[in-house]
Amino acid sequence: MSLRVGVLGATGAVGQRFVQLIERTPRFEIETVTASPASAGQRYEAAAKWRLGTAIPEEVAELTVRETDPEALPDDLDLLFSSLPSDVAAEVEPALCEAGYVVSSNSSNERLAEDVPLTIPEVNPDHLGLIERQRDERGWDGALVKNPNCSTITMVPTLAALTEFGIESVQVSTLQAVSGAGYSGVTSMEIIDNAIPHIGGEEAKMETESRKLLGEFDGASVSRLDADVTASCNRIPTVDGHLENVFAELEADPTAAEVREAMRAVESAPLPSSPDQLIHVFGEDAPERPQPRMDRDRGDGMAVVAGGVTATDAGVKYNCLAHNTIRGAAGASLLNGELLADEGWI
Ligand code: NAP
Repeated sequence: MSLRVGVLGATGAVGQRFVQLIERTPRFEIETVTASPASAGQRYEAAAKWRLGTAIPEEVAELTVRETDPEALPDDLDLLFSSLPSDVAAEVEPALCEAGYVVSSNSSNERLAEDVPLTIPEVNPDHLGLIERQRDERGWDGALVKNPNCSTITMVPTLAALTEFGIESVQVSTLQAVSGAGYSGVTSMEIIDNAIPHIGGEEAKMETESRKLLGEFDGASVSRLDADVTASCNRIPTVDGHLENVFAELEADPTAAEVREAMRAVESAPLPSSPDQLIHVFGEDAPERPQPRMDRDRGDGMAVVAGGVTATDAGVKYNCLAHNTIRGAAGASLLNGELLADEGWI
Protein backbone atom coordinates (compact mmCIF):
# COMPACT_ATOMS: atom_id res chain seq x y z
CA MET A 1 0.00 0.00 0.00
CA SER A 2 1.30 3.49 -0.86
CA LEU A 3 2.17 5.92 1.90
CA ARG A 4 0.29 9.23 1.79
CA VAL A 5 2.67 12.17 1.49
CA GLY A 6 2.64 15.95 1.24
CA VAL A 7 5.17 18.20 -0.53
CA LEU A 8 5.95 21.54 1.13
CA GLY A 9 7.20 24.24 -1.25
CA ALA A 10 5.88 22.11 -4.11
CA THR A 11 5.83 24.92 -6.69
CA GLY A 12 9.60 25.66 -6.53
CA ALA A 13 12.60 24.23 -8.39
CA VAL A 14 13.09 21.40 -5.91
CA GLY A 15 9.36 21.01 -5.17
CA GLN A 16 8.64 20.32 -8.85
CA ARG A 17 11.36 17.66 -8.85
CA PHE A 18 9.68 16.09 -5.82
CA VAL A 19 6.40 15.89 -7.69
CA GLN A 20 8.13 14.40 -10.74
CA LEU A 21 10.16 11.81 -8.78
CA ILE A 22 7.46 10.76 -6.30
CA GLU A 23 5.14 10.04 -9.22
CA ARG A 24 7.67 7.43 -10.43
CA THR A 25 7.74 5.44 -7.20
CA PRO A 26 4.77 3.28 -6.20
CA ARG A 27 5.77 3.64 -2.55
CA PHE A 28 4.40 7.17 -2.10
CA GLU A 29 1.26 8.94 -3.24
CA ILE A 30 1.01 12.74 -3.19
CA GLU A 31 -2.09 13.83 -1.29
CA THR A 32 -1.20 17.46 -0.57
CA VAL A 33 0.97 20.25 -1.97
CA THR A 34 1.78 23.54 -0.25
CA ALA A 35 3.52 26.80 -1.17
CA SER A 36 3.53 30.48 -0.14
CA PRO A 37 0.34 32.39 0.68
CA ALA A 38 0.56 33.88 -2.85
CA SER A 39 0.02 30.44 -4.42
CA ALA A 40 -2.37 28.99 -1.84
CA GLY A 41 -5.88 28.39 -3.17
CA GLN A 42 -4.74 27.97 -6.81
CA ARG A 43 -4.71 24.71 -8.75
CA TYR A 44 -1.19 23.27 -8.67
CA GLU A 45 -0.94 23.44 -12.45
CA ALA A 46 -1.62 27.18 -12.41
CA ALA A 47 0.62 27.97 -9.45
CA ALA A 48 3.66 25.87 -10.34
CA LYS A 49 4.86 27.31 -13.68
CA TRP A 50 6.15 23.80 -14.40
CA ARG A 51 9.61 23.87 -15.99
CA LEU A 52 10.54 20.19 -16.23
CA GLY A 53 10.60 18.23 -19.49
CA THR A 54 7.79 15.87 -18.46
CA ALA A 55 4.06 16.58 -18.00
CA ILE A 56 2.72 17.39 -14.52
CA PRO A 57 1.22 14.17 -13.13
CA GLU A 58 -2.53 14.55 -13.74
CA GLU A 59 -3.72 13.92 -10.20
CA VAL A 60 -1.24 16.48 -8.81
CA ALA A 61 -2.07 19.12 -11.45
CA GLU A 62 -5.62 19.22 -10.11
CA LEU A 63 -4.72 19.54 -6.41
CA THR A 64 -5.41 22.85 -4.70
CA VAL A 65 -2.24 24.37 -3.24
CA ARG A 66 -2.53 24.73 0.53
CA GLU A 67 -0.89 27.13 2.93
CA THR A 68 2.26 25.76 4.59
CA ASP A 69 0.85 25.50 8.08
CA PRO A 70 0.08 22.53 10.36
CA GLU A 71 -3.52 23.74 10.60
CA ALA A 72 -3.93 23.60 6.81
CA LEU A 73 -2.68 20.01 6.38
CA PRO A 74 -4.68 16.78 6.60
CA ASP A 75 -3.67 14.93 9.76
CA ASP A 76 -3.54 11.47 8.18
CA LEU A 77 -0.37 12.02 6.10
CA ASP A 78 2.43 9.48 6.63
CA LEU A 79 5.30 11.73 5.56
CA LEU A 80 6.09 15.27 4.44
CA PHE A 81 8.81 16.21 1.97
CA SER A 82 10.04 19.78 2.46
CA SER A 83 11.73 22.17 0.02
CA LEU A 84 10.91 25.47 1.68
CA PRO A 85 13.23 28.49 1.89
CA SER A 86 15.27 27.80 5.02
CA ASP A 87 13.94 30.79 7.00
CA VAL A 88 10.38 29.56 6.41
CA ALA A 89 11.37 25.96 7.15
CA ALA A 90 13.03 27.01 10.42
CA GLU A 91 9.63 28.11 11.71
CA VAL A 92 7.31 25.61 10.09
CA GLU A 93 9.21 22.30 10.30
CA PRO A 94 9.50 22.17 14.13
CA ALA A 95 5.79 23.02 14.43
CA LEU A 96 4.95 20.17 12.05
CA CYS A 97 7.16 17.69 13.94
CA GLU A 98 5.54 18.76 17.18
CA ALA A 99 2.15 18.14 15.57
CA GLY A 100 3.30 14.56 14.85
CA TYR A 101 4.45 14.74 11.21
CA VAL A 102 7.63 13.04 10.00
CA VAL A 103 9.50 15.52 7.75
CA SER A 104 12.23 14.66 5.23
CA SER A 105 13.71 18.05 4.40
CA ASN A 106 16.11 19.71 1.97
CA SER A 107 16.27 23.05 3.68
CA SER A 108 19.49 24.05 5.43
CA ASN A 109 18.04 24.90 8.88
CA GLU A 110 19.05 22.43 11.63
CA ARG A 111 21.33 20.34 9.39
CA LEU A 112 24.06 20.66 12.00
CA ALA A 113 21.85 20.31 15.09
CA GLU A 114 23.19 17.59 17.38
CA ASP A 115 19.87 15.71 17.47
CA VAL A 116 18.98 15.95 13.77
CA PRO A 117 20.08 13.18 11.38
CA LEU A 118 21.85 14.55 8.29
CA THR A 119 21.71 11.49 6.10
CA ILE A 120 22.73 10.05 2.75
CA PRO A 121 21.33 6.48 2.78
CA GLU A 122 24.37 5.01 0.99
CA VAL A 123 26.84 6.74 3.34
CA ASN A 124 25.48 7.03 6.89
CA PRO A 125 22.04 5.36 7.26
CA ASP A 126 22.78 4.57 10.92
CA HIS A 127 22.62 8.31 11.78
CA LEU A 128 18.81 7.99 11.63
CA GLY A 129 19.20 6.59 15.15
CA LEU A 130 19.42 10.24 16.32
CA ILE A 131 15.64 10.38 15.95
CA GLU A 132 15.25 8.67 19.33
CA ARG A 133 17.29 11.42 21.00
CA GLN A 134 15.39 14.08 19.05
CA ARG A 135 12.04 12.73 20.21
CA ASP A 136 13.26 12.45 23.82
CA GLU A 137 14.74 15.95 23.93
CA ARG A 138 12.05 17.80 21.98
CA GLY A 139 9.01 15.79 23.06
CA TRP A 140 8.01 15.27 19.42
CA ASP A 141 5.89 12.40 18.07
CA GLY A 142 7.07 13.36 14.59
CA ALA A 143 10.66 13.60 13.39
CA LEU A 144 12.95 15.82 11.32
CA VAL A 145 15.55 14.33 8.95
CA LYS A 146 17.76 16.37 6.65
CA ASN A 147 19.73 15.74 3.51
CA PRO A 148 22.83 17.83 2.83
CA ASN A 149 23.33 20.77 0.54
CA CYS A 150 23.54 19.90 -3.18
CA SER A 151 27.27 20.68 -3.49
CA THR A 152 28.07 18.63 -0.36
CA ILE A 153 26.16 15.57 -1.54
CA THR A 154 28.07 15.57 -4.84
CA MET A 155 31.41 15.18 -3.07
CA VAL A 156 30.68 13.16 0.08
CA PRO A 157 30.05 9.70 -1.48
CA THR A 158 33.49 9.96 -3.14
CA LEU A 159 35.06 11.01 0.17
CA ALA A 160 33.34 8.04 1.85
CA ALA A 161 35.33 5.88 -0.57
CA LEU A 162 38.56 7.58 0.52
CA THR A 163 38.09 7.01 4.26
CA GLU A 164 39.82 3.62 3.97
CA PHE A 165 43.00 5.52 2.99
CA GLY A 166 42.73 7.96 5.95
CA ILE A 167 41.59 11.46 4.96
CA GLU A 168 43.86 14.22 6.33
CA SER A 169 42.42 17.21 4.49
CA VAL A 170 40.16 18.07 1.57
CA GLN A 171 40.13 21.05 -0.77
CA VAL A 172 37.27 21.42 -3.22
CA SER A 173 36.40 23.97 -5.87
CA THR A 174 32.92 23.89 -7.41
CA LEU A 175 31.30 24.84 -10.74
CA GLN A 176 27.62 25.04 -9.80
CA ALA A 177 24.54 25.20 -12.03
CA VAL A 178 22.02 28.04 -11.89
CA SER A 179 19.10 25.79 -10.80
CA GLY A 180 20.89 25.45 -7.47
CA ALA A 181 19.84 29.01 -6.68
CA GLY A 182 16.12 28.31 -7.21
CA TYR A 183 13.93 29.88 -9.89
CA SER A 184 14.43 33.46 -8.83
CA GLY A 185 18.02 33.03 -7.65
CA VAL A 186 20.33 34.31 -10.43
CA THR A 187 19.20 36.61 -13.24
CA SER A 188 20.20 35.98 -16.86
CA MET A 189 22.03 39.34 -16.94
CA GLU A 190 24.19 38.18 -14.04
CA ILE A 191 25.13 34.72 -15.29
CA ILE A 192 25.15 34.55 -19.12
CA ASP A 193 28.73 34.92 -20.43
CA ASN A 194 29.92 34.97 -16.84
CA ALA A 195 31.05 33.06 -13.74
CA ILE A 196 30.46 34.20 -10.17
CA PRO A 197 33.15 33.18 -7.65
CA HIS A 198 30.86 33.41 -4.62
CA ILE A 199 27.70 31.62 -3.46
CA GLY A 200 26.53 32.96 -0.13
CA GLY A 201 26.89 30.44 2.71
CA GLU A 202 27.74 27.55 0.37
CA GLU A 203 31.37 27.14 1.35
CA ALA A 204 30.59 26.85 5.06
CA LYS A 205 27.88 24.27 4.29
CA MET A 206 30.32 22.07 2.38
CA GLU A 207 32.97 22.41 5.07
CA THR A 208 30.72 21.54 8.01
CA GLU A 209 28.10 19.17 6.59
CA SER A 210 30.69 16.86 5.00
CA ARG A 211 32.43 16.36 8.36
CA LYS A 212 29.12 15.50 10.09
CA LEU A 213 28.11 13.08 7.32
CA LEU A 214 31.42 11.24 7.62
CA GLY A 215 31.36 11.24 11.43
CA GLU A 216 30.65 8.20 13.60
CA PHE A 217 27.31 7.67 15.39
CA ASP A 218 27.88 6.12 18.83
CA GLY A 219 24.22 5.57 19.69
CA ALA A 220 23.73 9.06 21.13
CA SER A 221 25.87 11.54 19.16
CA VAL A 222 27.63 11.97 15.83
CA SER A 223 31.34 12.87 15.92
CA ARG A 224 32.91 14.96 13.16
CA LEU A 225 35.45 13.62 10.65
CA ASP A 226 38.83 14.72 11.97
CA ALA A 227 40.02 16.50 8.81
CA ASP A 228 40.02 20.05 7.48
CA VAL A 229 37.67 20.62 4.56
CA THR A 230 38.13 23.83 2.55
CA ALA A 231 35.65 24.79 -0.19
CA SER A 232 35.60 27.43 -2.89
CA CYS A 233 32.20 27.76 -4.59
CA ASN A 234 31.50 29.20 -8.04
CA ARG A 235 28.29 29.68 -10.07
CA ILE A 236 28.52 29.04 -13.84
CA PRO A 237 25.91 29.20 -16.62
CA THR A 238 24.92 25.51 -16.74
CA VAL A 239 21.27 24.73 -15.97
CA ASP A 240 21.61 21.52 -13.92
CA GLY A 241 24.53 19.51 -12.52
CA HIS A 242 27.26 20.61 -10.12
CA LEU A 243 30.84 19.76 -11.16
CA GLU A 244 33.53 19.77 -8.45
CA ASN A 245 37.34 19.53 -8.45
CA VAL A 246 38.53 17.74 -5.33
CA PHE A 247 42.04 17.42 -3.88
CA ALA A 248 42.47 15.16 -0.83
CA GLU A 249 45.56 14.59 1.30
CA LEU A 250 45.57 11.00 2.56
CA GLU A 251 47.52 9.04 5.18
CA ALA A 252 48.05 6.16 2.76
CA ASP A 253 49.47 6.44 -0.72
CA PRO A 254 46.94 4.73 -3.03
CA THR A 255 47.36 4.54 -6.78
CA ALA A 256 44.75 6.13 -9.05
CA ALA A 257 43.49 2.64 -9.91
CA GLU A 258 43.02 1.82 -6.20
CA VAL A 259 41.05 5.05 -5.68
CA ARG A 260 38.83 4.34 -8.70
CA GLU A 261 38.23 0.83 -7.37
CA ALA A 262 37.32 2.14 -3.90
CA MET A 263 34.83 4.59 -5.44
CA ARG A 264 33.21 1.88 -7.57
CA ALA A 265 32.90 -0.31 -4.46
CA VAL A 266 30.70 2.13 -2.52
CA GLU A 267 27.46 0.19 -2.31
CA SER A 268 24.12 1.39 -3.50
CA ALA A 269 21.33 1.29 -0.88
CA PRO A 270 18.60 -1.37 -1.11
CA LEU A 271 15.96 1.31 -1.72
CA PRO A 272 13.68 1.69 -4.76
CA SER A 273 15.14 5.05 -5.84
CA SER A 274 18.82 4.27 -5.25
CA PRO A 275 20.79 3.81 -8.51
CA ASP A 276 22.29 0.38 -9.30
CA GLN A 277 25.78 1.89 -9.25
CA LEU A 278 26.15 4.81 -6.81
CA ILE A 279 29.45 6.19 -8.16
CA HIS A 280 30.22 5.79 -11.84
CA VAL A 281 33.96 6.33 -12.35
CA PHE A 282 35.54 7.22 -15.70
CA GLY A 283 39.03 5.81 -16.30
CA GLU A 284 42.20 7.26 -17.83
CA ASP A 285 40.74 6.89 -21.32
CA ALA A 286 38.15 9.64 -20.63
CA PRO A 287 40.00 12.45 -18.84
CA GLU A 288 37.45 15.02 -20.09
CA ARG A 289 34.56 13.41 -18.12
CA PRO A 290 32.37 13.93 -16.17
CA GLN A 291 30.62 16.89 -17.80
CA PRO A 292 27.28 18.37 -16.63
CA ARG A 293 25.31 18.01 -19.87
CA MET A 294 26.61 14.51 -20.62
CA ASP A 295 26.64 12.93 -17.18
CA ARG A 296 24.08 14.55 -14.84
CA ASP A 297 21.27 12.14 -15.78
CA ARG A 298 23.21 8.95 -15.09
CA GLY A 299 21.16 6.61 -12.90
CA ASP A 300 18.08 8.82 -13.59
CA GLY A 301 19.97 11.69 -11.96
CA MET A 302 20.60 9.71 -8.75
CA ALA A 303 24.21 8.67 -9.44
CA VAL A 304 27.44 10.49 -8.66
CA VAL A 305 29.96 10.52 -11.51
CA ALA A 306 33.72 10.81 -10.98
CA GLY A 307 36.73 11.02 -13.27
CA GLY A 308 40.20 12.44 -13.75
CA VAL A 309 41.49 10.48 -10.75
CA THR A 310 45.19 11.27 -10.39
CA ALA A 311 47.61 10.26 -7.64
CA THR A 312 50.20 12.99 -6.96
CA ASP A 313 53.08 13.20 -4.47
CA ALA A 314 50.87 15.41 -2.26
CA GLY A 315 47.57 13.48 -2.47
CA VAL A 316 44.78 12.48 -4.83
CA LYS A 317 42.85 14.77 -7.16
CA TYR A 318 39.70 14.04 -9.14
CA ASN A 319 36.48 15.58 -10.49
CA CYS A 320 32.94 14.62 -9.46
CA LEU A 321 29.47 15.58 -10.59
CA ALA A 322 25.83 15.08 -9.56
CA HIS A 323 22.44 16.40 -10.63
CA ASN A 324 21.79 19.13 -8.06
CA THR A 325 17.99 19.12 -7.99
CA ILE A 326 17.73 15.29 -8.18
CA ARG A 327 20.58 13.58 -6.27
CA GLY A 328 21.41 16.93 -4.66
CA ALA A 329 17.92 17.79 -3.43
CA ALA A 330 14.54 16.13 -4.13
CA GLY A 331 16.02 12.70 -4.91
CA ALA A 332 18.11 12.83 -1.74
CA SER A 333 15.05 13.59 0.39
CA LEU A 334 13.06 10.92 -1.41
CA LEU A 335 15.74 8.34 -0.58
CA ASN A 336 15.68 9.44 3.06
CA GLY A 337 11.88 9.00 2.99
CA GLU A 338 12.30 5.47 1.65
CA LEU A 339 14.87 4.75 4.35
CA LEU A 340 12.56 6.14 7.06
CA ALA A 341 9.79 3.88 5.80
CA ASP A 342 11.99 0.76 5.54
CA GLU A 343 13.46 1.25 8.99
CA GLY A 344 10.09 1.69 10.65
CA TRP A 345 10.32 5.38 11.63
CA ILE A 346 7.01 6.24 9.96
P1 NAP B 1 12.42 28.04 -4.98
O1 NAP B 1 12.45 27.60 -6.40
O2 NAP B 1 12.53 29.48 -4.71
O3 NAP B 1 11.04 27.47 -4.31
C1 NAP B 1 10.65 27.82 -3.01
C2 NAP B 1 9.32 27.17 -2.63
O4 NAP B 1 8.94 27.59 -1.31
C3 NAP B 1 8.15 27.56 -3.54
O5 NAP B 1 7.21 26.50 -3.58
C4 NAP B 1 7.55 28.76 -2.80
O6 NAP B 1 6.16 28.97 -3.07
C5 NAP B 1 7.68 28.29 -1.36
N1 NAP B 1 7.67 29.42 -0.44
C6 NAP B 1 8.32 30.62 -0.54
N2 NAP B 1 8.02 31.43 0.51
C7 NAP B 1 7.16 30.74 1.30
C8 NAP B 1 6.47 31.03 2.50
N3 NAP B 1 6.62 32.22 3.13
N4 NAP B 1 5.65 30.09 3.01
C9 NAP B 1 5.48 28.90 2.40
N5 NAP B 1 6.10 28.56 1.23
C10 NAP B 1 6.94 29.47 0.69
O7 NAP B 1 13.57 27.34 -4.15
P2 NAP B 1 14.29 25.90 -4.38
O8 NAP B 1 15.50 26.03 -5.19
O9 NAP B 1 13.25 24.92 -4.77
O10 NAP B 1 14.84 25.61 -2.91
C11 NAP B 1 13.98 25.18 -1.87
C12 NAP B 1 14.83 24.75 -0.67
O11 NAP B 1 15.65 23.64 -1.03
C13 NAP B 1 15.76 25.85 -0.14
O12 NAP B 1 15.83 25.76 1.26
C14 NAP B 1 17.09 25.49 -0.79
O13 NAP B 1 18.18 25.98 -0.06
C15 NAP B 1 17.03 23.96 -0.77
N6 NAP B 1 17.87 23.30 -1.78
C16 NAP B 1 17.82 23.67 -3.10
C17 NAP B 1 18.63 22.98 -4.02
C18 NAP B 1 18.61 23.31 -5.49
O14 NAP B 1 19.41 22.69 -6.23
N7 NAP B 1 17.77 24.20 -5.97
C19 NAP B 1 19.45 21.96 -3.60
C20 NAP B 1 19.48 21.61 -2.25
C21 NAP B 1 18.68 22.28 -1.36
P3 NAP B 1 5.66 30.06 -4.19
O15 NAP B 1 5.83 29.41 -5.54
O16 NAP B 1 4.25 30.27 -3.83
O17 NAP B 1 6.53 31.28 -4.02
